[in-house]
Amino acid sequence: LVRPDGTVGETIFGQMTQLAAAHGAVNLGQGAPGTDAPEPLVAAAADAMRAGMNQYPPGQGFPALIDAVAEQRRREYGQQVSTDEVLVTVGATEALTAAILALVPPGGEVIVFEPFYDAYPAAITAAGATMVTVPVLPVDGGFAPDWEAFEAAVSESTAAIIVNTPHNPTGALFDLEQLRRIFAGAQRADAWVITDEVYEYLVFDGAEHHALAAHVDEPERVVSVSSAGKSFNITGWKVGWVVAAPEVRAAIQGVKQFLTFTAGSPLQVAVAEALRTGSPFPSENRDSLAARRGVLLAALRQVPGIDVRTPRAGYFVLVDFAPLTDEDAFALNERITREYGFTGIPVAALCRAGSPTAEHYRATIRYSFCKSPAEVEAATAGIARLA
Ligand code: PMP
Ligand code: GLN
Repeated sequence: LVRPDGTVGETIFGQMTQLAAAHGAVNLGQGAPGTDAPEPLVAAAADAMRAGMNQYPPGQGFPALIDAVAEQRRREYGQQVSTDEVLVTVGATEALTAAILALVPPGGEVIVFEPFYDAYPAAITAAGATMVTVPVLPVDGGFAPDWEAFEAAVSESTAAIIVNTPHNPTGALFDLEQLRRIFAGAQRADAWVITDEVYEYLVFDGAEHHALAAHVDEPERVVSVSSAGKSFNITGWKVGWVVAAPEVRAAIQGVKQFLTFTAGSPLQVAVAEALRTGSPFPSENRDSLAARRGVLLAALRQVPGIDVRTPRAGYFVLVDFAPLTDEDAFALNERITREYGFTGIPVAALCRAGSPTAEHYRATIRYSFCKSPAEVEAATAGIARLA
């Protein structure tokens, strides 16, 4: 993001949102839900504000939310979590950034599966560390890491491995065997594993999300990160968390206190209630998303020649237009926006510039189906004209 002249560029999500707006196109770019937050959560936040929860919360987070996160990890994954292992953050973004700054030394290497969420390289750069990428590529029926590249990437310089499952943008869901393989690499390198589990509830077709920390003999090596944003359709609330061994949590909190100190008192209280009680909203949200995924996939599958894989989880579907055009995804996305009225994110923007993975995905565009049913429907009209 930092250009050679020292200025900082806008995220690809901001750029593509402007592109869509400039042409009045349906914005299937940024993964920002087009349906609203659950009413009980909104009411709980409003109640908390009226009850005076309007000042700084404790640095570690409100005890009610800390308890709720520990309870949620136990209930969903059988992970035993004590209250000194939870830190509330300003979304998963702050959790990831604070964890990287706290745990990765300057000059260390961080292994990232590519394509990746764009906050990872920014935080790795801020830590003075180096990102080492491992491609996630199309395989029969989905996407999978290039294991040879993974094994080659692991070395004594590896300080951390970031695993995002369910994976943005491919919709891949890492199974237990894959997660254990990654963990074994971390053990070999004596490195941390940072899991980014923000799409933990948005898993389709009866498949299951696995929390790595619940399945290893050395859970203290794992820093688990998640957020309420996607699970409860409250991406703007920015309530996230870290689960890590007490001294690791304390180190991450030490960084977090100088990034934001604290945030979101009434929002923390509301999220605590929803998490603790096992609100039905995340599974309703998943089912409604699965329906929108179906509408978008059905439309895309009418376009002859393109490669469309069914995402197993998350907000996004990848479409490879390479068989249809020589244009790269940036040019093509702009033309589709102008001529067909819908916008996505070129996947190469979620890769290291010039990497073999970026080259592999040069004509691939990510479309988000977390938009409102009306928006998804409107996009299908444009897709039908492509067909
Ligand atoms: N990780 C991934 C993979 C994401 O897609 C996103 C966000 N959209 C985040 C982290 C950030 O989550 P939050 O909004 O809670 O900071
Ligand atoms: N994570 C969301 C996505 O991948 C967007 C978050 C952002 O705009 N930074 O689309």
